[in-house]
Parts: sequence; C-alpha cells; structure tokens
Amino acid sequence: MNRSTRERLGLLAVLVFPVDGAWLLDPGNRQAARGDNLSFDYLVVGAGFAGSVIAERLARVYRKRVLVVDRRPHIAGNAYDHYNDDGILVHKYGPHIFHTNSREIFEYLSRFTAWRSYEHRVLASVDGKLVPIPVNLDTVNILYDLNLTSEELEKYFASVAERREFVRTAEDAVVTRIGRDLYEKLFRGYTRKQWGLDPSQLDASVTARIPVRTNRDPRYFTDNYQAMPRDGYTRLFENMLDHPNIRVLLNTDYRDIRAKARSAEVVYTGPIDEFFDYRFGPLPYRSLHFQHQTLDCAVFQEAPVINYPNEHPYTRVTEFKYLTGQKHSKTSIVYEYPRAEGEPYYPVPRKENAELYKRYKELADATPGVHFVGRLATYKYYNMDQVVGQALKLCHKIAGASHRTIAPFREAS
Ligand SMILES: Cc1cc2nc3c(=O)[nH]c(=O)nc-3n(C[C@H](O)[C@H](O)[C@H](O)COP(=O)(O)OP(=O)(O)OC[C@H]3O[C@@H](n4cnc5c(N)ncnc54)[C@H](O)[C@@H]3O)c2cc1C
Repeated sequence: MNRSTRERLGLLAVLVFPVDGAWLLDPGNRQAARGDNLSFDYLVVGAGFAGSVIAERLARVYRKRVLVVDRRPHIAGNAYDHYNDDGILVHKYGPHIFHTNSREIFEYLSRFTAWRSYEHRVLASVDGKLVPIPVNLDTVNILYDLNLTSEELEKYFASVAERREFVRTAEDAVVTRIGRDLYEKLFRGYTRKQWGLDPSQLDASVTARIPVRTNRDPRYFTDNYQAMPRDGYTRLFENMLDHPNIRVLLNTDYRDIRAKARSAEVVYTGPIDEFFDYRFGPLPYRSLHFQHQTLDCAVFQEAPVINYPNEHPYTRVTEFKYLTGQKHSKTSIVYEYPRAEGEPYYPVPRKENAELYKRYKELADATPGVHFVGRLATYKYYNMDQVVGQALKLCHKIAGASHRTIAPFREAS
C-alpha cells in the first residue's frame, strides 16, 4: 500500500486483520478494536461496489452494524485506483469508465463523489491505421480508403453481411452484421486474445451487443451519464464506507474467519464456486496481467485506449491521464495481457459454464443467511452501474428480514 493510499484509508475506521489473526494498524484503531464491542448484524465479504454499496445502505439507512472484509490490502475491488510512485492516478486493475442510463444510480453515487465529465474514446490499430471503435462511418472509410455516406454504408453492410439461419456464436453475431473482412480485421484476433478461444467457440452474447454505427459518432458509450469520479474511485469508496456503523478489515479472507462468523447474516461478493469449495469443479474465468509503465513524456498515444486486434500479445493500451484529466509532465499507461490463470476477471460465456453456474446457484438458493451478489458471486460480467443497481435492490430485499448478530471477534493470543 503506498503512502497516499494509507493516508486516505486512515480516514476510515480501517482495521487490518492479517491471516495470522493479530490486529494491526495504527494504535488508535488498535485501541478502538479492543475497546469496541465488535459484534455485527451483517458480515459483508468484499469491499468492491457490490459489498460497499450494501454496507453503506445497511449502515446508513437501516442502522445496521456491518463488518466488511476483503482479502486484498485495499477497498474498492477492481475499481481501485491510487497515485503511483510518480504521483499519477492509475487504475490498478485496468481502466474503469463509469457510464449509466440510470439516474437513480448516478444520483446515489453522487452522494460520495463529485464528477468529471468524460466521454470515452477507443481507437484500433489495424493495417497501420488508427480507426474508431465501435465501428462507424469513419472506421470503414479510413480502413478501405472510401468516402461513403451513412446511407451508402448501410448498403455496404447489407451487401457484405453473411446470412445465417440462427445466430449462435460470437462469430455469427458479427459476420451477419458487418461481413467477414471487418470481422477478421477488428474482431477475430482481439476476441481470440481476450478469451483464448475463437469467436466461433463463444456465445453470441460476447459480441451481440457491440454497437455498429453508420454515423460518425466516435464515443465508446452513448449512456446518458458518462463521468469519472473527480477524486478517483478509491476516494468515492472511502466516503461510502465512512460511517460509524461500518468496520473494514483488509487482508482478511472470509475462508479464514467464517468459522468465527458462522452465526452472521452474510452478504457474499466473492466467487460462488470458491464459497462452496469448488464442489462441482471450478467455474472458468479469463484473467489479465496488467503491465503498468510511466513514461517521461506528457502524452503517449492519440487516444485514451488503443486496441491491438492483430498485433502484439496484449489487447490494448490505456493512458490514464485522458481518463482522469490529471495534468502531469509524465504519463502512465497500462498494457493488458489476457491469460487463463490468475485473478478471476471475466466469466467465460459458454453454455457448459452457464450450466455449471446453475448448479452452484441452486446451492446458493438453498443456503440460508447468505446473500450472493456482484459479478463473482453471480458469475456474470457486469458493469459497475449494474452491480450498484443489483446491490441497491438486494439491500431493500434483505434489510427488512430478521437478522442475527455475530459473535465478537477475539484477538489472537
Ligand atoms: C479489466 C476490467 C475493466 C473493467 N472496466 C469497466 C468499465 O470501464 N466500466 C464498468 O462499468 N465496469 C468495468 N469493469 C467491471 C467492474 O470491475 C465490475 O463491475 C465491478 O468491479 C464489480 O464489483 P464487485 O463488487 O461485484 O466485484 P469486485 O470489484 O471484484 O469486488 C469483489 C471483492 O471481493 C473480494 N473477495 C473475493 N473473495 C473474497 C474472500 N473470500 N474474502 C474476502 N474478500 C474477498 C475481492 O478481493 C474483491 O475486492 C471492468 C472489469 C475489469 C476486469
């Protein structure tokens, strides 16, 4: 944890509870830990969006005492950002761009942050050219040296689109809309790198919702609300969790404390297969390796994100200053290398995996006192706003229900 993060976390009543069971952190909190009656109405596993929203609502609205545990050394889950050694705000787990069509969700999060208006842009490097993503009129005109109008582009797509009786795979979903050549140039290689599978082996859902435009709109998202937390995501989470009824234990794995917490009402946002000790086998995930770099120049690339569908082992490069608006003489970027092993990031959307998840879901439904929420616990890729929405809904549902209080944690001797 770097200094700035530690300083920020110091704002919270944060206790670090390492696996050997001894309370750590500053003496003030240590005293507080000993002096407090550490009993809670809810144990929340995971301090990402799912866990933190639920903790905040339970504490603030329903006056519940909530213990949040996370096995990572920081809050904010995958949205965690921090100032690196050069003082540049970076997203540790890859670029996180906030966008939503829900006023309710945007207004809810606005309680914890001011916003910086930001519309995301992505370019793809193809055949030595940089072209807008999602595919739009400029993408096609630049790639093929054409000067089509929107109407002509519609006709072009109609002429190159392949016919299929059923759209079953990610390949079908693309070639039936924009034809094989654009699919090969922009989608096939990227998808193969990202998933380690050919699009013909993946569900249509992977590419079905990728927009294709016949106008020149270069925005990556078209949601009504597009913005970045002005002071970063971690600060947003600090504000969210800053409540006297909330305690946060970092470096704490639920598996190491669940025996002590067995009488708690639990909100679980970790991997569902792990919760059940992989009884039916592990659910497949795709992971990423993030290679962060700081460069001695003010600007590195022409867009916030550049995709590399056909070159290099990495899929994309993000330059953070575009996202954060930070002014700095240096710049920080991150390369993303997809891989099979590592932190679980993307559930692999295949039919057999959905069936395996269903078996775990049945177990979850039959487990009283534990609520499963968030992307890992429901084995589904969700954007941040969707997870916030899911968490708000769950909170309304569970908070009225009766609850038990968990036994106080004891300091290890
Ligand atoms: C590379 C990447 C880029 C993304 N970009 C965007 C984007 O631009 N816009 C967008 O809207 N969404 C984006 N997302 C999705 C976003 O990250 C998720 O929607 C969000 O993080 C989900 O929140 P969560 O709380 O469900 O999960 P997480 O953020 O993963 O939080 C779960 C937490 O639970 C903890 N945990 C798990 N198991 C245990 C355990 N046994 N004990 C203790 N703690 C545990 C984990 O350490 C983690 O901190 C992106 C995701 C990735 C991987």
